[in-house]
Amino acid sequence: MGTAGRLLVKKPLTTRRLRIAFLTLGLLLFSCTQARNTAAGPNPSVVAQSASPASSSPDLSPAPSPPPKFDSSRAFQYVKEIVAFGPRPIGSQNHRKVEDYILSHLKQDSVEEDAFTIETTEGNFPVRNLLAKFPGTEDGIIVIASHYDTNYPLRDTSYVGANDGASSSALLLEIANQLRGPRREGYSVWLLWDDAEESMRLPWFDPESLYGVRHLAQKWQADGTIKHIKAFLLEDMIGDADLEIERETNSTPWLEQMIYQAATGLGYQSHFFARTSQIEDDHIPFVERGVPSADLIDFDYGYNNVFWHTPQDTVDKLSPKSLEIVGTVTLATVQKLDHK
Ligand SMILES: [Zn+2]
Repeated sequence: MGTAGRLLVKKPLTTRRLRIAFLTLGLLLFSCTQARNTAAGPNPSVVAQSASPASSSPDLSPAPSPPPKFDSSRAFQYVKEIVAFGPRPIGSQNHRKVEDYILSHLKQDSVEEDAFTIETTEGNFPVRNLLAKFPGTEDGIIVIASHYDTNYPLRDTSYVGANDGASSSALLLEIANQLRGPRREGYSVWLLWDDAEESMRLPWFDPESLYGVRHLAQKWQADGTIKHIKAFLLEDMIGDADLEIERETNSTPWLEQMIYQAATGLGYQSHFFARTSQIEDDHIPFVERGVPSADLIDFDYGYNNVFWHTPQDTVDKLSPKSLEIVGTVTLATVQKLDHK
């Protein structure tokens, strides 16, 4: 299947977080350019160079890290358990239940909450970002994030957000299992389950979305935390059994390249970056503040993204293998960041 063809078809449909319709022509042109650029995949010379830091300073080359572990069966079970709560929009009982569920898995960890209230055209809502901190030996922080709310406008349907919300939230719970233990050699890793990501209206309405991350980015800028963040890795819609992670053009190119190297090291590169998209997602407030950021997202969920934000976003479309691919590539990227 031709990459260019898919891009040209897909781009105008990417209305979720693409800012405005009048960009469409520009995006089409952009897509053509990107289709050419990406036809050959990431620049192999860059891959080879960066993958071989030993060529210039062999003695400083870090010992190869063992391949990351990730229990995909356990992660998939978490997806099912989160979905079993039903729709989880902000302000709902089920939203509260999934917060408690996430926290119940983090009892041994250093957990912080960032709670506040938002005023929206739909009313006022409590919002709560959940953060688990895994300290490292190096001065610096890697944030791995996922939103855990489900779409508010779909609150009265059977929409359960198995891929959009549950898959990535479950992924982070399993990553927490892997990080738990002795202080890690490398940067601190902070896992962030952020809240009120979904737009209050459909189609996507920028001013009333991304509340959790916008609040946290401002807070971390004010208290100086943001200067210590080495990378912000966002997970979104990563459970699709037909996994194809986008090259995402709001993301930081060198970080995407590092992700591709990590994927290649694990033999998973065929699931990464065959397609290029520009997506407004939780990473944007950090991108805007100069934090190296990457959005790991497969925004082609079913043919032409047909399952996205519909009651068809259910567990049967997902695969434990996809969680394993994204989970291990994320952890391998963290290892690479440690040695950067
Ligand atoms: Zn969504």
